Amino acid sequence: MNIIAKEIEFPGAFILGAGAAPFQTLGINAEFMPIVQTKSDHKPAVNGSYFAQINPEDGGCLLEKYSKKYNDFGFALLANLFASEGQSGKVIEIKAKGRTGEYNFVTCMRKTLEKHYGDKPVGMGGTFVVQNGKVKVHIMPPEFSSCPLTSDEDVNNWLHFFEIKAPLVCQPVFVSRDPGFDLRLEHTHCFSHHGEGGHYHYDTTPETVEYLGHFLPAEILYRIDKPKETHTFGRD
Ligand SMILES: [Zn+2]
Repeated sequence: MNIIAKEIEFPGAFILGAGAAPFQTLGINAEFMPIVQTKSDHKPAVNGSYFAQINPEDGGCLLEKYSKKYNDFGFALLANLFASEGQSGKVIEIKAKGRTGEYNFVTCMRKTLEKHYGDKPVGMGGTFVVQNGKVKVHIMPPEFSSCPLTSDEDVNNWLHFFEIKAPLVCQPVFVSRDPGFDLRLEHTHCFSHHGEGGHYHYDTTPETVEYLGHFLPAEILYRIDKPKETHTFGRD
């Protein structure tokens, strides 16, 4: 995270988002919920991140908060990050109750932005709380796949899916459309204080679900370490 802050010339950046936990440090694959104040000239880094893994004991969801025993905690594979100064100020508040269509909360916001701004990409980040209801999430298995995953079906067969309950704190990063950077358009990870978390797909309780979110539009979009070879599956 300190390296990312350096790359975007933003020391002390407060970073939220969704990514893959560092298998190099943990020894396993896991979902990563970064909450990091990166280091600056005056202050050391503060790491309040969570990560969710498959519980080796019962195959369930195991959410853990970062602690000092995990030395040098970064991320692996990929991450979608939203960096801000972490100061208080004006934000966009969105409340939603009930779901009437097939799109999840983040996709609705993303498509609304795309409809309004068209070709002009608008990126946003922040947090929202699922205040009521349940959501479908996935957690990557601890081991990498022994054979290449070459379709959405392969990826879905590899992932573990769970239904977890509110209240959930979610960290979305989304862009209304891809300006040709080969982007994942939305990525949201969530954590809770009752031991559940993961990669958010959608709520499974459209009648009772309630969302409360606070967001900020991005000023600059950075694409770091873009893969040379790309594909389009596994991007939901
Ligand atoms: Zn994810």
